[in-house]
Amino acid sequence: MKSITKFDVLGLPIVDHCNLNCRGCYHFCTQGQKPSFRTLDVFLKDVKRFKELVDHVNWIKLYGGEPLLHPQLKECVSSLREIYPYSEICLMTNGLLIKSLDRDTLRVLKDSNVKMDITAYPVLEKKLPDIINFLHQYGIRTNVNHISEFGRRFNKKGDSNPQEIYKNCEMKICHYLQEGEFTMCPLPIFIRRYNELFGTNYDMSCDILNIHDQNVKYEDLVAFANRYHDCCKYCGETELFPWSIGVNNPPASDWEIEDKKL
Ligand code: SF4
Ligand code: SF4
Repeated sequence: MKSITKFDVLGLPIVDHCNLNCRGCYHFCTQGQKPSFRTLDVFLKDVKRFKELVDHVNWIKLYGGEPLLHPQLKECVSSLREIYPYSEICLMTNGLLIKSLDRDTLRVLKDSNVKMDITAYPVLEKKLPDIINFLHQYGIRTNVNHISEFGRRFNKKGDSNPQEIYKNCEMKICHYLQEGEFTMCPLPIFIRRYNELFGTNYDMSCDILNIHDQNVKYEDLVAFANRYHDCCKYCGETELFPWSIGVNNPPASDWEIEDKKL
């Protein structure tokens, strides 16, 4: 009998832009960024192919930017639930748009047993109790992470020891899938946004696995997800700074560290 294939955490970035503008945003969202998102077709193509490779995923996290900005959020969520009936599906949100969700969407979130995973930045704190009450009235489960600090870790010289930096990296379990591209962490996908912002030319395509390649098997995916990659040389020792709203046209120093290779 074939054994069930499993995966622990999968991140699906469904929206690229955001209604907030955090300084040093991990997804390189900035003010004035053009709206863009995965269409329902593209989203489903990825999820269905992933299902061919992996029977069950413990945690599926829908990311942005801000995922609540997706124009077909309820369709994405209900289809995802049909494909992965037993996963813990979480919407990773900054929470600010929750009370503007329409009733239909709220009903689908409840019926699909989605958890609203709220990252509570200082800008949300006063509104938080009201938002939690609102969600509980609709029977939607919640989780809250309070964040008052961000970290920067991009080593633009790329001279860190990738094996060493990977060992203690807390992002290495944040596997992402977007438009067929699977990565062990967000960096190889989001570096393109950094290139757009700062006119750089970093190429991390060899740290991306195309899951629509029919030669890719479950074992390849797991091995790819759980090893260090060349792009780890672009990470360094994290420098923490207080969370704040970013400026228009932010400087690269919001993400870069100075000569702190590992
Ligand atoms: S809320 Fe999240 S995605 Fe939006 S700007 Fe802040 S860190 Fe980036
Ligand atoms: S590139 Fe490597 S070290 Fe950097 S965040 Fe990803 S897994 Fe961690």
